[in-house]
Amino acid sequence: LEWESGVNLQSKQIKLSDESDLKSFLTWCQDNKITINPKVTVCKHGSCAQYGLLAVEDISEGECLLDIPRNVLLTPQTTALSKLLEKEKASLKSTSGWVPLLVALMYEYLTPSSHWAPYLHLVPDFNQLNLPMFWSAQDLEFHLRGTGVVESVRRDLTNISAEFSNVVLPFLQKHSDFFRPESYDLELYKKMVAFIMAYSFTEPIDEDEDEDEDVIHGGTPRSGPMMVPLADILNHVTDNNAHLDFGKETLKMTATKYIKKGEEVYNTYGPLTNQELLHMYGFTERYPLNTHDSVEIPLSIVEVVLSQDVTSDSRELLNEKWYHLKSKEVITEDFMYLLGRDGFITDWEMYETLKVFSLDSATFRDVNEKEEYSDTEGDDAMSFDDLKQLPDRWKIILATIARACIKRYPNTLAEEQSTMNSMMWSALPRWQQYCIYLRHGHLTMLHQLLATVA
Ligand code: SAM
Repeated sequence: LEWESGVNLQSKQIKLSDESDLKSFLTWCQDNKITINPKVTVCKHGSCAQYGLLAVEDISEGECLLDIPRNVLLTPQTTALSKLLEKEKASLKSTSGWVPLLVALMYEYLTPSSHWAPYLHLVPDFNQLNLPMFWSAQDLEFHLRGTGVVESVRRDLTNISAEFSNVVLPFLQKHSDFFRPESYDLELYKKMVAFIMAYSFTEPIDEDEDEDEDVIHGGTPRSGPMMVPLADILNHVTDNNAHLDFGKETLKMTATKYIKKGEEVYNTYGPLTNQELLHMYGFTERYPLNTHDSVEIPLSIVEVVLSQDVTSDSRELLNEKWYHLKSKEVITEDFMYLLGRDGFITDWEMYETLKVFSLDSATFRDVNEKEEYSDTEGDDAMSFDDLKQLPDRWKIILATIARACIKRYPNTLAEEQSTMNSMMWSALPRWQQYCIYLRHGHLTMLHQLLATVA
């Protein structure tokens, strides 16, 4: 009984503190002249993931739902550290370009009197923000084998550690009058990277702006990520119903279609694949909802398939052909062919690869000697429908590529489908369901390729 009441008490406390955090954030919004259309409400229950925006009345297309003045955006220019960050700009340069904002976020997050405290207390909830970069190496490999997420996360973790040790720590130590370096560790830094990944916005560059100006409108930076309180409460779906406009004085969240009372208001984080969504935001959409989805086919797989082709060229000629494609900039060293929902997205690159590898040695040497790259114009469509018309040898190669890719995943398409339809599905943790959505989508596209060319 004691244990039960303890749990109840704890969950009540969590609820109360959630509500008071939301209340103080909304008061902060009001104090800072953020306008919320009374037809929407910010809530924690009823949205698809934690906090979200819900319509409490019918909304027409074009209606402004949130209006956010530029001075409440959290950027290296608006933080209390702005002068120091500007002075030390040169020493904070890094590959990601995120260091000034990361330092600002850590500082504001650890400062109880921060202007942004009510915002930073509400989001991010690091118990909920379950990005793959926080998973164990075993979980990553077990659940995401075959997808590009494993490699992206490894690369991120290496870069994050290097950036923290080589750029951030020396800066914090040099300015120990501002920071207590013992409070700023790699764990906190990683959390802020995740916060930027999953919550920040990047302003689209206006072609008409003067390129030399690196600061535009109201002191916000031209490039690089920025935190936009309240706009970042919205969740994402591919079929979104709102989007953010960057105006001169304010940022406006606007309905892009009619939204019915009771529906969730969804922003778009961009035309992202499931792999990108999982990597940066920790969720995916079930096939066929994400129309932007695609699967990466690494160059290494195509290289192996072409080198094992029975009718294949000598090793020397194979190498010459790859060199030709790279030197003519058809592909790069770490190129990925992209297969989308309707066929190849990198259609020209796939077509040219198959074309070059189908040439006999004499014809290839002729083509290779020409200064100009002999492009295949207009003839390189690679939708599933177009693939049916390809020469048989090309189709055999594509089928072998599809089979080689399918083999890299931990489960078959039929196994993924059966898990998704089973009783145990709802008992799986959300992050595992998202991994299955990702693999299921990839396998579906690869099987579609196989069915078209086999
Ligand atoms: N729901 C967030 C919150 O409570 O703080 C606000 C949105 S925040 C910009 C982005 C995060 O929301 C993502 O990293 C993911 O955790 C969650 N999210 C957004 N859209 C989602 C969706 N369609 N399904 C599941 N989670 C989603």
